[in-house]
Amino acid sequence: MLFDLLINFCILFTFAVLSYWHFQDTVRSNFPFLKAHPYIIGIMSGLAGFILMESSVDLSDTIMVDARHVVIVIAGILGGPIAPIISGLIIGLARIFMTDTVTIPGLLGGLNVSVLGIVIGLFSFKYPMTFKNAPRYFYYATAQTAVLIAILIHQTTTNYLHIVYFILYSAFSFFTVLFILIELNGHFKKFRHTELLAETDYLTGLYNNRKFEQLTHSYITDSTKPFSMISIDIDHFKKVNDLYGHPIGDEILKELGARLKSLVSSREGYVTRNGGEQFVVLLPNSPPAMGLDLGERIRSSIARSPFPVSDNQQEQVSITVSIGVSSYPDNGMTIQELYSAADTAMYEAKAIGRNRVFHYTNRKA
Ligand code: GH3
Ligand code: MG
Repeated sequence: MLFDLLINFCILFTFAVLSYWHFQDTVRSNFPFLKAHPYIIGIMSGLAGFILMESSVDLSDTIMVDARHVVIVIAGILGGPIAPIISGLIIGLARIFMTDTVTIPGLLGGLNVSVLGIVIGLFSFKYPMTFKNAPRYFYYATAQTAVLIAILIHQTTTNYLHIVYFILYSAFSFFTVLFILIELNGHFKKFRHTELLAETDYLTGLYNNRKFEQLTHSYITDSTKPFSMISIDIDHFKKVNDLYGHPIGDEILKELGARLKSLVSSREGYVTRNGGEQFVVLLPNSPPAMGLDLGERIRSSIARSPFPVSDNQQEQVSITVSIGVSSYPDNGMTIQELYSAADTAMYEAKAIGRNRVFHYTNRKA
Protein backbone atom coordinates (compact mmCIF):
# COMPACT_ATOMS: atom_id res chain seq x y z
CA MET A 1 0.00 0.00 0.00
CA LEU A 2 2.79 2.41 0.92
CA PHE A 3 4.56 1.68 -2.34
CA ASP A 4 1.38 2.38 -4.32
CA LEU A 5 0.89 5.65 -2.47
CA LEU A 6 4.46 6.62 -3.25
CA ILE A 7 3.86 6.01 -6.97
CA ASN A 8 0.68 8.06 -6.67
CA PHE A 9 2.58 10.88 -5.07
CA CYS A 10 5.28 10.81 -7.78
CA ILE A 11 2.61 11.22 -10.48
CA LEU A 12 1.07 14.16 -8.64
CA PHE A 13 4.46 15.72 -8.13
CA THR A 14 5.41 15.38 -11.80
CA PHE A 15 2.14 16.98 -12.87
CA ALA A 16 2.57 19.88 -10.46
CA VAL A 17 6.13 20.67 -11.52
CA LEU A 18 5.40 20.27 -15.25
CA SER A 19 2.35 22.54 -14.99
CA TYR A 20 4.30 25.06 -13.02
CA TRP A 21 6.36 25.99 -16.10
CA HIS A 22 3.22 27.33 -17.71
CA PHE A 23 2.31 29.21 -14.58
CA GLN A 24 5.66 30.85 -14.17
CA ASP A 25 5.61 34.52 -15.15
CA THR A 26 8.42 34.68 -17.69
CA VAL A 27 7.06 31.66 -19.56
CA ARG A 28 3.54 33.09 -19.44
CA SER A 29 4.66 36.39 -20.91
CA ASN A 30 6.14 34.52 -23.90
CA PHE A 31 3.36 31.94 -24.11
CA PRO A 32 1.58 32.34 -27.47
CA PHE A 33 -1.81 30.99 -26.32
CA LEU A 34 -2.21 32.74 -23.00
CA LYS A 35 -6.01 32.49 -23.14
CA ALA A 36 -5.74 28.72 -23.53
CA HIS A 37 -3.61 28.45 -20.40
CA PRO A 38 -6.43 27.53 -17.92
CA TYR A 39 -7.78 24.96 -20.37
CA ILE A 40 -4.34 23.41 -20.87
CA ILE A 41 -3.84 23.15 -17.10
CA GLY A 42 -7.37 21.75 -16.75
CA ILE A 43 -6.75 19.05 -19.37
CA MET A 44 -3.28 18.26 -18.03
CA SER A 45 -4.60 17.86 -14.50
CA GLY A 46 -7.51 15.81 -15.79
CA LEU A 47 -5.06 13.42 -17.44
CA ALA A 48 -2.89 13.41 -14.32
CA GLY A 49 -5.97 12.55 -12.26
CA PHE A 50 -6.74 9.69 -14.65
CA ILE A 51 -3.21 8.31 -14.26
CA LEU A 52 -3.49 8.75 -10.49
CA MET A 53 -6.65 6.62 -10.49
CA GLU A 54 -4.93 3.96 -12.60
CA SER A 55 -2.33 3.64 -9.86
CA SER A 56 -4.66 4.08 -6.92
CA VAL A 57 -4.72 2.03 -3.74
CA ASP A 58 -7.76 -0.24 -3.57
CA LEU A 59 -9.54 -0.28 -0.22
CA SER A 60 -12.01 -2.81 -1.53
CA ASP A 61 -12.99 -4.21 -4.92
CA THR A 62 -14.73 -0.98 -5.76
CA ILE A 63 -13.27 1.73 -3.55
CA MET A 64 -10.06 3.38 -4.73
CA VAL A 65 -7.97 5.90 -2.87
CA ASP A 66 -5.59 8.32 -4.56
CA ALA A 67 -4.63 12.00 -4.83
CA ARG A 68 -7.16 12.94 -7.54
CA HIS A 69 -8.78 15.56 -5.29
CA VAL A 70 -5.34 17.09 -4.63
CA VAL A 71 -4.64 17.40 -8.33
CA ILE A 72 -7.85 19.42 -8.73
CA VAL A 73 -6.78 21.89 -6.04
CA ILE A 74 -3.31 22.23 -7.60
CA ALA A 75 -4.99 22.86 -10.98
CA GLY A 76 -6.87 25.76 -9.34
CA ILE A 77 -3.65 27.29 -8.07
CA LEU A 78 -1.85 27.01 -11.39
CA GLY A 79 -4.65 27.54 -13.88
CA GLY A 80 -7.30 29.69 -12.18
CA PRO A 81 -11.04 28.89 -11.75
CA ILE A 82 -11.61 27.19 -15.13
CA ALA A 83 -8.89 24.59 -14.61
CA PRO A 84 -10.43 22.70 -11.62
CA ILE A 85 -13.82 22.58 -13.36
CA ILE A 86 -12.32 20.96 -16.47
CA SER A 87 -10.11 18.76 -14.36
CA GLY A 88 -12.99 17.63 -12.12
CA LEU A 89 -15.21 16.79 -15.09
CA ILE A 90 -12.49 14.80 -16.89
CA ILE A 91 -11.53 12.86 -13.77
CA GLY A 92 -15.20 12.35 -12.85
CA LEU A 93 -16.13 10.90 -16.24
CA ALA A 94 -13.00 8.77 -16.26
CA ARG A 95 -13.87 7.40 -12.80
CA ILE A 96 -17.41 6.50 -13.84
CA PHE A 97 -16.40 4.74 -17.05
CA MET A 98 -13.02 3.28 -16.12
CA THR A 99 -14.58 0.04 -14.87
CA ASP A 100 -16.20 -2.46 -17.26
CA THR A 101 -19.60 -1.79 -15.76
CA VAL A 102 -20.74 1.38 -14.07
CA THR A 103 -20.78 0.69 -10.32
CA ILE A 104 -22.42 2.71 -7.54
CA PRO A 105 -19.05 3.52 -5.88
CA GLY A 106 -17.66 4.40 -9.30
CA LEU A 107 -20.61 6.65 -10.03
CA LEU A 108 -20.46 8.33 -6.61
CA GLY A 109 -16.66 8.64 -6.81
CA GLY A 110 -16.98 10.25 -10.25
CA LEU A 111 -19.75 12.58 -9.11
CA ASN A 112 -17.75 13.48 -6.00
CA VAL A 113 -14.75 14.57 -8.01
CA SER A 114 -16.86 16.47 -10.56
CA VAL A 115 -18.68 18.34 -7.80
CA LEU A 116 -15.32 19.11 -6.17
CA GLY A 117 -14.00 20.58 -9.39
CA ILE A 118 -17.11 22.67 -10.00
CA VAL A 119 -17.39 23.94 -6.41
CA ILE A 120 -13.66 24.79 -6.23
CA GLY A 121 -13.84 26.48 -9.64
CA LEU A 122 -16.93 28.54 -8.78
CA PHE A 123 -15.57 29.59 -5.39
CA SER A 124 -12.25 30.57 -6.86
CA PHE A 125 -13.99 32.88 -9.33
CA LYS A 126 -14.96 34.87 -6.24
CA TYR A 127 -11.89 34.11 -4.09
CA PRO A 128 -9.02 33.53 -6.56
CA MET A 129 -6.83 30.72 -5.40
CA THR A 130 -3.38 31.61 -4.12
CA PHE A 131 -0.63 29.66 -2.44
CA LYS A 132 -1.92 31.09 0.82
CA ASN A 133 -5.61 30.20 0.62
CA ALA A 134 -5.19 26.93 -1.33
CA PRO A 135 -5.12 24.82 1.89
CA ARG A 136 -8.76 25.81 2.55
CA TYR A 137 -9.82 24.39 -0.80
CA PHE A 138 -7.77 21.31 -0.02
CA TYR A 139 -9.48 20.82 3.36
CA TYR A 140 -12.85 20.99 1.68
CA ALA A 141 -11.86 18.51 -1.05
CA THR A 142 -10.36 16.06 1.44
CA ALA A 143 -13.29 16.33 3.87
CA GLN A 144 -15.90 15.70 1.15
CA THR A 145 -13.97 12.73 -0.24
CA ALA A 146 -13.33 11.25 3.23
CA VAL A 147 -17.05 11.46 4.04
CA LEU A 148 -17.90 9.68 0.80
CA ILE A 149 -15.37 6.92 1.49
CA ALA A 150 -16.79 6.58 5.02
CA ILE A 151 -20.28 6.14 3.56
CA LEU A 152 -19.15 3.57 0.98
CA ILE A 153 -16.86 1.32 3.04
CA HIS A 154 -17.90 -1.40 5.45
CA GLN A 155 -17.91 0.23 8.85
CA THR A 156 -14.97 -1.62 10.42
CA THR A 157 -12.10 -0.31 12.53
CA THR A 158 -9.60 -1.28 9.83
CA ASN A 159 -11.53 0.64 7.23
CA TYR A 160 -11.79 3.68 9.46
CA LEU A 161 -8.04 3.44 9.85
CA HIS A 162 -7.83 3.49 6.05
CA ILE A 163 -9.67 6.79 6.05
CA VAL A 164 -7.12 8.15 8.49
CA TYR A 165 -4.36 6.93 6.12
CA PHE A 166 -6.17 8.61 3.25
CA ILE A 167 -6.31 11.91 5.10
CA LEU A 168 -2.66 11.64 6.15
CA TYR A 169 -1.57 10.76 2.63
CA SER A 170 -3.64 13.60 1.15
CA ALA A 171 -2.13 16.11 3.57
CA PHE A 172 1.39 14.84 2.96
CA SER A 173 1.05 14.96 -0.83
CA PHE A 174 -0.72 18.33 -0.95
CA PHE A 175 1.54 20.18 1.46
CA THR A 176 4.72 18.72 -0.04
CA VAL A 177 3.68 19.79 -3.53
CA LEU A 178 2.55 23.18 -2.23
CA PHE A 179 5.88 23.68 -0.47
CA ILE A 180 7.82 22.83 -3.64
CA LEU A 181 5.65 25.17 -5.75
CA ILE A 182 6.12 28.02 -3.27
CA GLU A 183 9.87 27.39 -3.28
CA LEU A 184 9.99 27.30 -7.10
CA ASN A 185 7.96 30.47 -7.28
CA GLY A 186 10.25 32.22 -4.82
CA HIS A 187 13.33 31.21 -6.79
CA PHE A 188 11.83 32.38 -10.07
CA LYS A 189 10.85 35.69 -8.52
CA LYS A 190 14.37 36.22 -7.20
CA PHE A 191 15.80 35.22 -10.54
CA ARG A 192 13.53 37.67 -12.36
CA HIS A 193 14.40 40.39 -9.85
CA THR A 194 18.12 39.79 -10.43
CA GLU A 195 17.55 39.89 -14.18
CA LEU A 196 15.74 43.22 -13.79
CA LEU A 197 18.52 44.63 -11.64
CA ALA A 198 21.06 43.57 -14.24
CA GLU A 199 19.28 45.59 -16.91
CA THR A 200 18.27 48.58 -14.78
CA ASP A 201 20.15 51.78 -14.04
CA TYR A 202 20.31 52.07 -10.23
CA LEU A 203 19.77 55.87 -10.12
CA THR A 204 16.91 56.47 -12.55
CA GLY A 205 15.31 53.02 -12.78
CA LEU A 206 15.59 53.24 -16.56
CA TYR A 207 17.14 50.50 -18.68
CA ASN A 208 20.93 50.55 -18.59
CA ASN A 209 23.68 50.18 -21.17
CA ARG A 210 23.40 46.39 -21.17
CA LYS A 211 19.69 46.45 -22.02
CA PHE A 212 20.36 49.19 -24.57
CA GLU A 213 22.72 46.84 -26.41
CA GLN A 214 20.23 43.97 -26.23
CA LEU A 215 17.41 46.11 -27.60
CA THR A 216 19.50 47.60 -30.39
CA HIS A 217 20.79 44.17 -31.29
CA SER A 218 17.24 42.82 -31.51
CA TYR A 219 16.17 45.72 -33.76
CA ILE A 220 19.11 45.11 -36.06
CA THR A 221 18.66 41.35 -36.28
CA ASP A 222 14.86 41.02 -36.15
CA SER A 223 13.81 43.86 -38.37
CA THR A 224 14.45 45.13 -41.82
CA LYS A 225 12.56 48.30 -40.86
CA PRO A 226 14.41 51.56 -40.12
CA PHE A 227 14.82 52.66 -36.51
CA SER A 228 16.29 55.72 -34.84
CA MET A 229 18.63 56.26 -31.93
CA ILE A 230 18.43 59.56 -30.04
CA SER A 231 21.39 60.49 -27.86
CA ILE A 232 20.63 63.09 -25.16
CA ASP A 233 23.25 64.91 -23.09
CA ILE A 234 22.68 67.65 -20.50
CA ASP A 235 24.36 70.94 -21.33
CA HIS A 236 26.90 72.23 -18.79
CA PHE A 237 25.84 69.69 -16.22
CA LYS A 238 29.16 70.04 -14.42
CA LYS A 239 28.18 73.60 -13.55
CA VAL A 240 24.89 72.41 -12.05
CA ASN A 241 26.81 69.93 -9.89
CA ASP A 242 29.32 72.59 -8.88
CA LEU A 243 26.60 75.05 -7.99
CA TYR A 244 24.08 72.84 -6.20
CA GLY A 245 26.09 69.77 -5.24
CA HIS A 246 26.26 66.21 -6.52
CA PRO A 247 23.14 64.94 -4.65
CA ILE A 248 20.98 67.61 -6.31
CA GLY A 249 22.63 66.67 -9.61
CA ASP A 250 21.48 63.10 -8.97
CA GLU A 251 17.94 64.30 -8.30
CA ILE A 252 17.96 66.19 -11.60
CA LEU A 253 19.13 63.07 -13.42
CA LYS A 254 16.28 61.08 -11.82
CA GLU A 255 13.73 63.73 -12.73
CA LEU A 256 15.08 63.95 -16.27
CA GLY A 257 14.82 60.14 -16.57
CA ALA A 258 11.17 60.29 -15.43
CA ARG A 259 10.37 63.12 -17.84
CA LEU A 260 11.98 61.29 -20.75
CA LYS A 261 9.98 58.19 -19.89
CA SER A 262 6.75 60.13 -19.92
CA LEU A 263 7.69 61.90 -23.16
CA VAL A 264 8.40 58.59 -24.90
CA SER A 265 5.35 56.36 -24.69
CA SER A 266 6.05 52.67 -24.30
CA ARG A 267 4.50 52.10 -27.72
CA GLU A 268 6.96 54.52 -29.25
CA GLY A 269 10.23 53.22 -27.85
CA TYR A 270 12.59 52.80 -24.91
CA VAL A 271 14.62 55.22 -22.82
CA THR A 272 17.98 54.10 -21.44
CA ARG A 273 20.62 55.78 -19.31
CA ASN A 274 23.92 54.89 -20.83
CA GLY A 275 26.10 56.32 -18.08
CA GLY A 276 26.77 59.70 -16.53
CA GLU A 277 24.39 62.34 -17.82
CA GLN A 278 23.81 60.66 -21.15
CA PHE A 279 20.47 59.14 -22.08
CA VAL A 280 19.43 57.35 -25.24
CA VAL A 281 15.99 56.82 -26.75
CA LEU A 282 15.52 53.90 -29.11
CA LEU A 283 12.65 54.27 -31.54
CA PRO A 284 11.70 51.15 -33.48
CA ASN A 285 10.12 51.49 -36.92
CA SER A 286 11.18 55.13 -37.11
CA PRO A 287 12.85 56.72 -40.12
CA PRO A 288 15.11 59.81 -39.59
CA ALA A 289 12.24 62.34 -39.69
CA MET A 290 10.43 60.63 -36.82
CA GLY A 291 13.63 60.48 -34.78
CA LEU A 292 14.22 64.20 -35.36
CA ASP A 293 10.63 65.01 -34.49
CA LEU A 294 10.74 63.21 -31.13
CA GLY A 295 14.20 64.73 -30.45
CA GLU A 296 12.73 68.18 -30.92
CA ARG A 297 9.77 67.40 -28.66
CA ILE A 298 12.18 66.24 -25.94
CA ARG A 299 14.49 69.25 -26.32
CA SER A 300 11.72 71.83 -26.16
CA SER A 301 9.94 70.15 -23.24
CA ILE A 302 13.14 70.01 -21.12
CA ALA A 303 14.06 73.60 -21.94
CA ARG A 304 10.53 74.77 -21.09
CA SER A 305 10.17 73.25 -17.60
CA PRO A 306 12.79 74.05 -14.95
CA PHE A 307 13.92 71.42 -12.43
CA PRO A 308 13.52 71.84 -8.65
CA VAL A 309 16.84 72.06 -6.80
CA SER A 310 15.61 72.31 -3.21
CA ASP A 311 13.46 70.12 -1.00
CA ASN A 312 10.63 72.64 -0.82
CA GLN A 313 10.56 72.87 -4.63
CA GLN A 314 10.89 76.66 -4.37
CA GLU A 315 14.25 77.00 -6.08
CA GLN A 316 14.49 75.80 -9.65
CA VAL A 317 17.12 75.51 -12.33
CA SER A 318 16.58 75.57 -16.05
CA ILE A 319 18.58 73.00 -17.94
CA THR A 320 18.88 72.29 -21.62
CA VAL A 321 19.90 69.20 -23.52
CA SER A 322 21.77 68.68 -26.77
CA ILE A 323 20.44 65.86 -28.88
CA GLY A 324 22.00 63.79 -31.65
CA VAL A 325 20.01 61.40 -33.83
CA SER A 326 21.18 58.52 -36.01
CA SER A 327 19.06 56.10 -38.01
CA TYR A 328 19.34 52.51 -39.15
CA PRO A 329 20.27 51.60 -41.82
CA ASP A 330 21.35 55.02 -43.25
CA ASN A 331 23.97 55.81 -40.59
CA GLY A 332 25.27 52.38 -39.68
CA MET A 333 24.56 48.68 -39.62
CA THR A 334 26.00 47.85 -36.18
CA ILE A 335 25.32 49.04 -32.63
CA GLN A 336 28.74 50.70 -32.47
CA GLU A 337 28.31 52.55 -35.78
CA LEU A 338 24.86 53.83 -34.87
CA TYR A 339 25.86 54.81 -31.35
CA SER A 340 28.94 56.63 -32.53
CA ALA A 341 26.87 58.40 -35.25
CA ALA A 342 24.31 59.56 -32.66
CA ASP A 343 27.16 60.69 -30.39
CA THR A 344 28.84 62.59 -33.22
CA ALA A 345 25.53 64.27 -34.05
CA MET A 346 25.06 65.15 -30.36
CA TYR A 347 28.51 66.80 -30.23
CA GLU A 348 27.62 68.62 -33.43
CA ALA A 349 24.49 69.94 -31.65
CA LYS A 350 26.76 71.12 -28.80
CA ALA A 351 29.16 72.72 -31.27
CA ILE A 352 26.45 74.75 -32.99
CA GLY A 353 25.26 76.28 -29.73
CA ARG A 354 23.75 73.54 -27.45
CA ASN A 355 20.02 73.16 -26.76
CA ARG A 356 19.78 71.81 -30.34
CA VAL A 357 18.75 68.62 -32.14
CA PHE A 358 20.96 67.39 -34.94
CA HIS A 359 20.70 64.37 -37.25
CA TYR A 360 23.91 62.63 -38.26
CA THR A 361 22.79 62.64 -41.91
CA ASN A 362 22.71 66.46 -41.88
CA ARG A 363 26.36 66.94 -40.94
CA LYS A 364 28.64 68.59 -43.46
CA ALA A 365 31.08 66.11 -44.98
P1 GH3 B 1 28.56 69.70 -21.96
O1 GH3 B 1 27.52 70.71 -22.25
O2 GH3 B 1 29.73 69.82 -22.85
O3 GH3 B 1 27.99 68.33 -21.96
O4 GH3 B 1 29.08 70.02 -20.51
P2 GH3 B 1 28.97 69.12 -19.23
O5 GH3 B 1 29.43 69.91 -18.05
O6 GH3 B 1 27.59 68.56 -19.14
O7 GH3 B 1 29.91 67.94 -19.62
P3 GH3 B 1 31.16 67.31 -18.93
O8 GH3 B 1 31.44 66.05 -19.69
O9 GH3 B 1 32.28 68.31 -18.80
O10 GH3 B 1 30.68 66.95 -17.48
C1 GH3 B 1 29.70 65.98 -17.24
C2 GH3 B 1 29.32 66.14 -15.80
O11 GH3 B 1 28.28 65.20 -15.48
C3 GH3 B 1 30.46 65.87 -14.87
C4 GH3 B 1 29.93 64.94 -13.84
O12 GH3 B 1 30.12 65.41 -12.53
C5 GH3 B 1 28.43 64.88 -14.13
N1 GH3 B 1 27.91 63.57 -13.88
C6 GH3 B 1 28.13 62.42 -14.55
N2 GH3 B 1 27.48 61.40 -13.96
C7 GH3 B 1 26.82 61.92 -12.89
C8 GH3 B 1 25.98 61.36 -11.89
O13 GH3 B 1 25.67 60.16 -11.85
N3 GH3 B 1 25.47 62.22 -10.95
C9 GH3 B 1 25.78 63.53 -10.95
N4 GH3 B 1 25.25 64.31 -10.01
N5 GH3 B 1 26.58 64.07 -11.87
C10 GH3 B 1 27.10 63.28 -12.83
MG1 MG C 1 26.85 67.21 -20.63
